[in-house]
Amino acid sequence: MSFEAKSQNELLAELRRLEGVVQDQETLRRELERYKDLFCFAADAILMGDHDGNIIEANHSAALLTGYAHEELLGMNISRLFAADVQVRTPLRYDLLKVGQVVHNERVLTRKDGTTAHISMNSKMMSDGSYHTFIQDISERIQAEKALKDREAALSSILRAAPIGIGVTHNRRIGWASETLLKMLGYSADEVVGRNARILYLDDQEYARVGEKKYRDIAEQKIGVVETRWKRKDGQILDILLSSTPVDPCDISQGVTFTALDITERKATEEKQREIAQMKSEFIATASHELRTPLAVALGYLELLLNDGNFSPLEQREFLAIILEKAQVLERLVDELLDVSRIESGRMIRLEREPVRIAETVDMVIRQFHKESSKHHFSCEVRDKDIELFIDREKIVQVLENLVGNAVKFSPLGGRIVVQGEVAGDCYRLSVRDEGIGMTAHQKEKIFEKFYRVDNSNTAVRGLGIGLFLTKNIIEAHRGEIWVESRLGEGATFFFTLPLGAPPQDDPGA
Ligand code: ADP
Repeated sequence: MSFEAKSQNELLAELRRLEGVVQDQETLRRELERYKDLFCFAADAILMGDHDGNIIEANHSAALLTGYAHEELLGMNISRLFAADVQVRTPLRYDLLKVGQVVHNERVLTRKDGTTAHISMNSKMMSDGSYHTFIQDISERIQAEKALKDREAALSSILRAAPIGIGVTHNRRIGWASETLLKMLGYSADEVVGRNARILYLDDQEYARVGEKKYRDIAEQKIGVVETRWKRKDGQILDILLSSTPVDPCDISQGVTFTALDITERKATEEKQREIAQMKSEFIATASHELRTPLAVALGYLELLLNDGNFSPLEQREFLAIILEKAQVLERLVDELLDVSRIESGRMIRLEREPVRIAETVDMVIRQFHKESSKHHFSCEVRDKDIELFIDREKIVQVLENLVGNAVKFSPLGGRIVVQGEVAGDCYRLSVRDEGIGMTAHQKEKIFEKFYRVDNSNTAVRGLGIGLFLTKNIIEAHRGEIWVESRLGEGATFFFTLPLGAPPQDDPGA
């Protein structure tokens, strides 16, 4: 149809259509303009490539990120931006792009100057068959994550290495516990986390006391330090120095961080030192008393003899015998004290060994006690009477006198005292049994320590608390052993062994 032949309406419609086309083109031009702006000025690097990965367009950010000029990027294959090992680890997935998937991954990009950047990539195939790839530089985020990880690793290694347990509580409920703390307590994390800290304390009062002191200290000086005792899972008791401070100093509801230092050993040492100091001062008092008594008696008789000439020769002999006996007591005490100081300075007790018929020696000691103590009934049940031991006779007599003497002293009401002896394996075993006051398990552990006396206030029972210490050292110098079996109120039996046969060549006591 010719232009002239068209009706006016048709002409109008045509005009409108043409106007529409012009407008559509204008819209398209503006859209393109906007798209170009977005492409050019996008903060993300954008690369467009063909199906072989050759770059057909790149924006300003891509040039900035890669260090290549825009012209250099054009025609370059995208694979050149990635080192070979990176491509092996995170290959470019054209296979997925071809089937229309959006592919996201993170990898390391190598710039023109050889430096690297961590990037995040999103790629997609467009409707015209080209590939668009949007790239973000995530180096800072990766660095921050790495720094965080490094800090966490350093912190956890500090926590592992620290000899101190660390934990966090919320309202006294355990929220977190360090490995050291768990090890200290013998619990696993699952067994304590989420539970009330009460499980660690010996009783409700202690739990309440620690809580009150801790929170009062925190309120006053932001840190609460308190000494307490905790119970391990296996029941063992630990002395603990607890320091607590709020996670957020302005808001206690955020929880409290605490450190727990196991001071059990320190406390035990302190306690031991206190005990030794007390035993020493008690020892000085007892020693003075022990030395003064025989000295006073001897001095009394000496004065009598000097100032009064009216005593018969028989009486004078009697007095002199008493003075001699007291002097011998003093000599013995001093000898014992010298022995203790020798042992203390690390010197071994020297033995003068000789072949000794042990049965005869025991018999002799028992007879002597029998004469002195009428309250007690002594019996001597020594077998293997012909056995000879290579021992220091005098020292073994000292041991027997100490053990039988103690049996007498600590059976104040009398009773049977039985000394037994027989061969037992490769040694000769002797025992001294009494029916006296006996001792507790704790006392049994202590009696062989120097200066230890169960009841030092009891001056009626004489002694310096060194007899058993010396006895043990004498037996050990003979390479024997000594131990006690006893219960409070049920008497005591001391056992000791002496090896049979000649002493070894390297015998330190020989
Ligand atoms: P002491 O000179 O004080 O007797 P020892 O070292 O011989 O010193 O004994 C230490 C302590 O051991 C005594 O003070 C006493 O408390 C206890 N002990 C020793 N032997 C006996 C025993 N047979 N029965 C009960 N307690 C004993």
